[in-house]
Amino acid sequence: MSNDSYEDAIAGLNKLLSEKADLGSVAAAKIKQITAELESAASQGFDPVERIRTGFNHFKTEKFEKNPDLYGALAKGQSPKFLVFACSDSRVCPSHVLNFEPGEAFVVRNIANMVPPYDQTKYSGVGAAIEYAVLHLKVEHIVVIGHSRCGGIKGLMSIPEDGSTASDFIENWVKICAPAKSKVKTQCDSLSFDEQCNNCEKASYPYLIYFLSSDHYLS
Ligand SMILES: [Zn+2]
Repeated sequence: MSNDSYEDAIAGLNKLLSEKADLGSVAAAKIKQITAELESAASQGFDPVERIRTGFNHFKTEKFEKNPDLYGALAKGQSPKFLVFACSDSRVCPSHVLNFEPGEAFVVRNIANMVPPYDQTKYSGVGAAIEYAVLHLKVEHIVVIGHSRCGGIKGLMSIPEDGSTASDFIENWVKICAPAKSKVKTQCDSLSFDEQCNNCEKASYPYLIYFLSSDHYLS
């Protein structure tokens, strides 16, 4: 629950009590009950099931039930304007950062917001998403959103010179942007590792756009 909602709830309670003072004792008892419940929850630590339940209830009451026109239309189909590639990083949810409404963006998220080269075997998951978005949903705009402090790009920049990998999937995946790494290693050799990572986050875009705009994907 956001601070605004909390403030609104307290303000609403104060307003009610100012108008109906006889409810004061009832309110006090309920507040004590809520406080005890919150203290109990806090002492028990994080409850993932309760977190999901609370989150869904918030969506249902504050968004779904308050926007029947939007969700009624979405029940009939989707026609998003955007296909968005974003990193799986929990801090950079594109719907949050770009304030997308449900139905506005068809989103592909993966480590380091990669758009791999056209490959029907290795990268069929991404290929299927592009095919569906472009051919069936007919999105008008394709956006690739990177971010700073990207763990995937840091992983790419950390791969040893000999190209050897220690993970089953991650390093081979981020190697999609190996050309960007090579460019940064060549042009920014004097910079710190963190600065090189930051440069690589930006240097990856032209390659991703190049892969995306290949004839195979968008023909
Ligand atoms: Zn990332």
